[in-house]
Order: sequence, then structure tokens, then C-alpha cells
Amino acid sequence: MVVKVLIANRGEIACRIIKTARRMGFQTVAVYSDADANALHVQMADEAVNIGPAPSKDSYLQAEKILEVAERTGAVMVHPGYGFLSENAEFARLCEDKQLLFVGPPVAAIDAMGSKSAAKNIMESAGVPLVPGYHGDDQSETNLKQHADNMGYPVLLKAAAGGGGKGMRAVWSDSEFTEALAAAKRESQASFGDDTMLIEKYLTQPRHVEIQVFCDMHGNGVYLFERDCSIQRRHQKVIEEAPAPGISDAVRQQMGEAALKAANAIGYVGAGTVEFLLDTDGSFYFMEMNTRLQVEHPVTEMITGQDLVEWQLRVASGEELPLSQSELVCQGHAFEARIYAEDPNNDFLPCTGKLQFVQPPEESDYVRVDTGVRQGDEVSVYYDPMIAKLVVWDENRDKALRRLLRALSEYRIQGLTTNVEFLYNLANCKAFKQVELDTGFIEKHREAIF
Ligand code: ADP
Repeated sequence: MVVKVLIANRGEIACRIIKTARRMGFQTVAVYSDADANALHVQMADEAVNIGPAPSKDSYLQAEKILEVAERTGAVMVHPGYGFLSENAEFARLCEDKQLLFVGPPVAAIDAMGSKSAAKNIMESAGVPLVPGYHGDDQSETNLKQHADNMGYPVLLKAAAGGGGKGMRAVWSDSEFTEALAAAKRESQASFGDDTMLIEKYLTQPRHVEIQVFCDMHGNGVYLFERDCSIQRRHQKVIEEAPAPGISDAVRQQMGEAALKAANAIGYVGAGTVEFLLDTDGSFYFMEMNTRLQVEHPVTEMITGQDLVEWQLRVASGEELPLSQSELVCQGHAFEARIYAEDPNNDFLPCTGKLQFVQPPEESDYVRVDTGVRQGDEVSVYYDPMIAKLVVWDENRDKALRRLLRALSEYRIQGLTTNVEFLYNLANCKAFKQVELDTGFIEKHREAIF
């Protein structure tokens, strides 16, 4: 019997999942909104079903509607990709109710990591190091300010329900606190319908290093090394790489083991990412765990030679992990650059319009382009304006970086403004080559980049 997988997503990640599912012999069912009737993921899937109007809330976020399609088409698995319903515990629960296999962790694990505050409580008990801070229930301004004052400035206010860098405010002195708190709460309420805040010590030059973990239903768990995602703008990732350069084997192993401890603490199954901040002195702190496949998973695939979507589908089918920790090898170096329809010279404002001409660099063992759009397609206002992920690999960082620069210089996109030149200038910075990485990199090297 042929098993069907429904992909509850769109764009590059839907295409990415369809590719692997097909290779493994699964039938694929795509869902699409009115705006995506001619999209690449629709064309690639064996079947495709319209699920409503363009706005996500009327289509890609319509859990019931999507599961109806799964039942109607006889799909037995649902892969949520990233974004949309991927970290929605209610969606995972609905899948369970309908006896559909959700390609992701158990409902309880999604729930546990859904709130940054609750997640921190769990990690604290499990002995995973946390950024010093307050993540308690007393949300009165007096209490929050008291904690900030005691901790010492700068502090970072964060939305407990947060994601995508929203609802986050650095506070540099006590006189700014009240105003910053109000602003962060407003933003959090608007974005997540919840304004619970937590406070962290604001690290001024941290690196963002995250560990890819994988667990199966039989008690096995491994980590597939780390990714450095320090190159960010407005707390959003721009270029990622694996492995994280300039980190000692000891720290690397400690982080991997802490990440597995985090996963085990919540009975994790499937692909997950444990995000840490790495301070200049080598100490690292748990930030959050993402209970899904990450956008930047390809860099891990390039250095391990593994297909993480295949691992996900196998684990969801009840199989054991394909490899043990000692069988996993990290080889060479990989970068990912996120190519966006946006204007770096206008505050990264998303750009919409038609992709009049698109010519990506040629793909090979060294260059991979994950995309969900092709020439002639429209980048609309409705969804994330990512055009492609450009991924390169080579045997060491210097060589991989040269590949990245070359591939970026070869990428041709006409019809709308993109960040390709910005990415090139960024990757071409001397400081980037010299691994002077921290989350303030772009700000620090503004002059060379813009
Ligand atoms: P979100 O879920 O909104 O993406 P995260 O908690 O994952 O938020 O943090 C996103 C980014 O914000 C991090 O990668 C880092 O650059 C920055 N950040 C988060 N916490 C701190 C902190 N305590 N000190 C300094 N920077 C931080």
C-alpha cells in the first residue's frame, strides 16, 4: 500500500518535503490558498487541494480544513514544515484525534516549549544552564522592575509567547524600563494575544549557537552538531553556518549533551533545535527549544550527509533513528544565505511583485538552492517574502565562504528588490572571514555592508 503524506505548508519548505517524500516512495498531497494555485509546491505534489483565500488565517492556518483534506485524500501523515501550524499543540492534538501521524513531537512536548517561561522552568529543573533572569508568574510592573534593577542593566524584556524577534526590548537603564515594558507588552499582545513577559540579562556580544537534536520513539536520541546563527538583523537570522567556527570540542560536546538533556526532559520525539546564547567567555545559556524542522536545517544536512526530512518521516513511522551518536560524522563546512525580496536600504521592508527573471547559480555537490518560486511567479504581501535559501558546502570554512561569495555573485533576480547584494557585502566582510561573530555583527559593520 502506498502511504500518503499531506504537507500543511507552502513555499520552499513544502517543495523540500515533497522531494524527500517522493524519493522515499510516499504519495504527496499539497494544500494551497487562492494565491498559490499555480505555485511550485502544487505542481510538484501528486495531488493538491485548495483550502481557501490568500490570507494565512483563512487557509494555511485552518487546522480543521487541512485535516479534512487529509481524511478525504486518505493521507496518513501530516508534515507541518516550519511556521504556520508547526508548533501549534492544538493542531498536533487534532491529528492525534483523527489518527493521523503528525510529523513532529508529542503534543505535550510542543506544549511544554510553547511558552518561553514554562520552558525555562523545565530546563532549570533538568539542570540546563539559563540566562540569569526572571520568568515567574508575578507580572506586576513593580515586581518586574525590581528584578531588572537587582540584575543590573542592560536587561532584555521578552514575550513569553514570543517568536520571530517580536515583543523583545533591550532596556539600558532603569529610567527606560516603564516605557520599554509597555511597548514590549503592546507588541506581544498584538502579535501573540498574550503579554506575559520574562526578563533576561542582556548579553552584549553573544553568539547564537543552536544544536540540532533528533529522538525516536524507542528512547534513542542524538545531536547532529551545531549551527551558528549569529548573523542577524532585528533578531532574525540572515546567514547561518555549520559547524560553529572557533568553538572548542569541549564546549561543543557540553552544548550537545545539554541539548539532549533538554530534549529528554520533555520526552522529545523527532527533529528539534535547542537554541543557546554563547558568551565571550565560553559559557552558554539555554534560550528556547524549537519543536520543528528549522529553516536553516540544510547546513546540518550538508555537514552530516543526512536528509533530515527523511529522518523525520522515518521516526514518525515508528522506525529507530538511522544512526547512533558515534556513527554521525561532521565533515567540512556549510553556509546558508536567506535570499529575500526586501530592501536592505529601506529598513528591510518586504518587496512584492513579479519575478521577471530568475537565474540561480548552478547546483552541484557544493551548491544547493532550496526555493518555492520560479521565474514569472509573484511574491505577494500574504506570506514571508523569502525567495530561496542558498546553501554551499566545502571541505573547510575558507573554501565554503569562497563558494558562497561566488554563488551570490552569480544569482540573478530581476523584477523586484532583493537582499542579494547586501548578503554578498556581508559575507565579503573581513571580520566575517575572520570569524568575529556576534549577534551585533551587522550593526557593527554597517559601513562595509550597506
Ligand atoms: P524569538 O523566539 O523571538 O526568535 P529568541 O529567544 O530565540 O526569540 O531570541 C532571538 C535572538 O534575540 C537571539 O538569537 C539573540 O540574537 C537575541 N537574544 C535573545 N536573548 C538574548 C539575551 N538575553 N541577550 C542578548 N541577546 C539576546
